[in-house]
Amino acid sequence: MESYNSFHVAQKQVAEAAKLLNLDRATVELLSYPQREFSCTLPVKMDDGSVKIFHAYRIQYNFARGPAKGGIRFHPDETVDIIRALASWMTWKTAVVDLPLGGGKGGVVCDPKKLSERELENLSRAYIRAVAEYIGPEKDIPAPDVYTNPQTMAWMMDEYETIVHRHQPGVFTDKPLQIGGTEGRRDATARGGVTTVREACKILDVNPHGRYAIQGFGNAGQRAALLHEEILGGGKLVAVSDSRGAIYNPDGFNPKDLVTHKLTTGTVRSFPGAQQISHEEILELDVDVLYPAALENAISELNAEKIKAKIVCELANGPTTPEADLILFRKGVHVIPDILASAGGVTVSYFEMVQDSYSYFWDEDLVHKRLDQKLTKAYHSVQQAMVQKRVHPRLAAMVVGVARVAEACKLRGWV
Ligand code: NAD
Repeated sequence: MESYNSFHVAQKQVAEAAKLLNLDRATVELLSYPQREFSCTLPVKMDDGSVKIFHAYRIQYNFARGPAKGGIRFHPDETVDIIRALASWMTWKTAVVDLPLGGGKGGVVCDPKKLSERELENLSRAYIRAVAEYIGPEKDIPAPDVYTNPQTMAWMMDEYETIVHRHQPGVFTDKPLQIGGTEGRRDATARGGVTTVREACKILDVNPHGRYAIQGFGNAGQRAALLHEEILGGGKLVAVSDSRGAIYNPDGFNPKDLVTHKLTTGTVRSFPGAQQISHEEILELDVDVLYPAALENAISELNAEKIKAKIVCELANGPTTPEADLILFRKGVHVIPDILASAGGVTVSYFEMVQDSYSYFWDEDLVHKRLDQKLTKAYHSVQQAMVQKRVHPRLAAMVVGVARVAEACKLRGWV
């Protein structure tokens, strides 16, 4: 459950960045609200012959730098304000990594665990019938998010192409490889995050081969562990957690063994020889790098004082509360904020759009190289803003993102 109204938090962040940038009143107001919102009801035929009505949204936050871009979530607790907030953060995220895109997000209020495969397909296609006119490679490009995946994108792309009567793979990203997906998408978020950690270690003189811990050993967390060796040349993974528990080994775990164990048993908790610790303790370990890769608000004013990591790399969306940001900054903990640390996913999604547009696909090495360049440059832009404005890294990232979007709005003559 979210303890904040996420959209109010997002608006406050825009206001803070705007103040540091001395933006005029009209620009601030423009950037504080979505440019367009769609709300619809979707009648869907269920397996038992009944018809169920689902409520759905698509929010296009800002188009100044390019078409809207952001995921579609299927979640029972979806609210329009959560989607507005996520669409706002996508806008600053795409701007921080300097992609020619705006921000967007969509959601369907549903419990996907209670739907059959066929009902999920019907729902995905119904959603596209409702929004088809307003999305497209030059308008708004959705992608998977919570409880949606490449299969969902394949159904949605098929429905969209049926409606527009032409091949149009660039309308969705994170599609299966066989139908216009890209190499390098699966580990892109973690790869981007670990790349920013590499850059932070250089600036802060932190040992890149030091101890690290991962809260949330799912997609992003597992990939981060596997990429440490490749990107940082090593490191000792001393603790990991998932929803069922947390484990610790001061001598370090082998990331590959842990991933195999998690995939075969469904949890890290039963890993042989590991010491059990609590969900709270993993966040408070004496490590060089902590990766929150699970849920929102993991680090709050309740535990921020106890965080001992030198670097916190936010692979998860919103793992640190605004109060905790200030505490961590005061303590000298270097937070790599989510809109930078987890931007690798949308960066490779953009590469997918580019490849789809000319139907020529890059090999994995080229995707990795270009991702590395984008994230390295973005990290240093944020670092520079942090030093210039003397603010914590999240505000610095917002300053970079908001400044770029505001400039585009001004150039277009909107404000
Ligand atoms: P996932 O569902 O694969 O993994 C989440 C993991 O967190 C699971 O292993 C789950 O057991 C664990 N978890 C849940 N509650 C926990 C708790 N209280 N303590 C510890 N672990 C807990 O999801 P993911 O794709 O890895 O995404 C993780 C985070 O990263 C989310 O916030 C997501 O929005 C963000 N993110 C992911 C991507 C991506 O490309 N996968 C991109 C951007 C942001």
